[in-house]
Amino acid sequence: MSKETGWNLDNSYARLPKSFFTNVNPTPVRSPKLIILNNQLATSLGLNVQALQSEDGVAVIAGNQIPEGAWPLAQAYAGHQFGHFNMLGDGRAVLLGEQITPHGERIDIQLKGSGRTAYSRGGDGRASLGPMLREYIISEAMHALGIPTTRSLTVVTSGESVIRETELPGAILTRVAASHLRVGTFQYVAKWGTVEELRTLADYTLKRHFPDVEADENRYLSLLQEVIKRQAELIAKWQLVGFIHGVMNTDNISISGETIDYGPCAFMDAYDPETVFSSIDMQGRYAYGNQPTIAGWNLARFAETLLPLLHDNQEQAVQLAQDKISGFKGLYHWNWLTGMRAKLGILNEETQDEAFINELLSLMKKYHADYTNTFRALTFDTPEDTVLFGTPEFAPWHGLWQARLGRQQESKASSNQLMRNSNPALIPRNHRVEAALEAAVEHGDYSVMERLLGVLSNPYMHSTEQAEYATLPASTTPYQTFCGT
Ligand code: AMP
Ligand code: MG
Ligand code: MG
Repeated sequence: MSKETGWNLDNSYARLPKSFFTNVNPTPVRSPKLIILNNQLATSLGLNVQALQSEDGVAVIAGNQIPEGAWPLAQAYAGHQFGHFNMLGDGRAVLLGEQITPHGERIDIQLKGSGRTAYSRGGDGRASLGPMLREYIISEAMHALGIPTTRSLTVVTSGESVIRETELPGAILTRVAASHLRVGTFQYVAKWGTVEELRTLADYTLKRHFPDVEADENRYLSLLQEVIKRQAELIAKWQLVGFIHGVMNTDNISISGETIDYGPCAFMDAYDPETVFSSIDMQGRYAYGNQPTIAGWNLARFAETLLPLLHDNQEQAVQLAQDKISGFKGLYHWNWLTGMRAKLGILNEETQDEAFINELLSLMKKYHADYTNTFRALTFDTPEDTVLFGTPEFAPWHGLWQARLGRQQESKASSNQLMRNSNPALIPRNHRVEAALEAAVEHGDYSVMERLLGVLSNPYMHSTEQAEYATLPASTTPYQTFCGT
């Protein structure tokens, strides 16, 4: 049956040292029902969309049937949660295996909400429908925005309830990722494994994600450099679209450079570096403006795990690691500045660009201007999209901007094209996501979500339909997110 669906699973993770994981099957659920299926993603994975929707197909993504070739396991990992080190692991997820795609790529297939594992501690191992649909919507929106991310293949309801503050419908998400290797995976092995196990993990990671540097003289130093580079690119992309992850614990930082763990994340509306949505982030540790600093902190924790591999002399190892870590800030900044120039249609470099960009941002902050819609207004020359155009400081800034654009060889048209490619006309607006979830979870009406997913799949297109979805919420109550479970 699973052959028909197109499952073509290998299990390289299961061949790693036994302490890295525990074998566990998903716990079957009462009556699985397919809620949503990502047709395009399924096809790219080599899966048959029709077969996936059949009873046997759904049984697999609900965890009721183990597909041929799977070797289900829960991964062990540790992590710093809000700065505090803990042993964690997949407490409610099971890796079925790695799908080998028609293009020969190796992609993790994980069921999230699939029941208890050795790492569940007090948890029930389950997930509720709302947060799984939310992950589906936001991760797919991120993908469409061009930001590296885990993907969502399916959501099924289990026919069982989960008990949170109230009784909620249970659900299982099929999460698709380049891998589920985290900073926390390295922390786990560095703390409780042997140096040989650490080397095995690092070599596995190099082979899987960074084959280009596998033959380098100090391949572990190259590994550190590559992970730093991908984080710098990723966090810059988050900042450029106003994405706030909300829980950048080291266990939620993917080594491959994908965005992972969509819990309390949300997009910023009015520009303010102090924006925090997560109800549990009291100190603002993971505020929008802190994300680059936190990423640097997380990377330092990663570097520490590699010390035994970097050099026989630990003092030298620390020196090597510090040199790399100190490069993160500049690398991040370069990515951010390049991205900001693009958002303003700037194709060459002038030293005063940064000051000029920061001037715009401080105006946005002062006037509580919507971040996305301000860039959208600059791109499409639609003053009605932002309060900024009517403010006294805007005309002088606009004059400087126009003069700046005049100091480059490229045509106005190519500059504007760059802006169109860099400024989404649409992000998943919090109130829109909430409305879609409410219709789905409370009324079993999935049409609102389907429509939202449709427009979000093309975020750089400027259309009338997009405009409707770009409007801000009528309510001025600050939006709050919860560690969705
Ligand atoms: P997160 O906050 O999503 O990064 O999760 C932190 C840890 O809590 C991970 O080890 C999860 O597997 C675990 N966890 C979260 N929810 C549950 C649950 N309902 N049952 C068991 N473990 C859970
Ligand atoms: Mg997590
Ligand atoms: Mg989570």
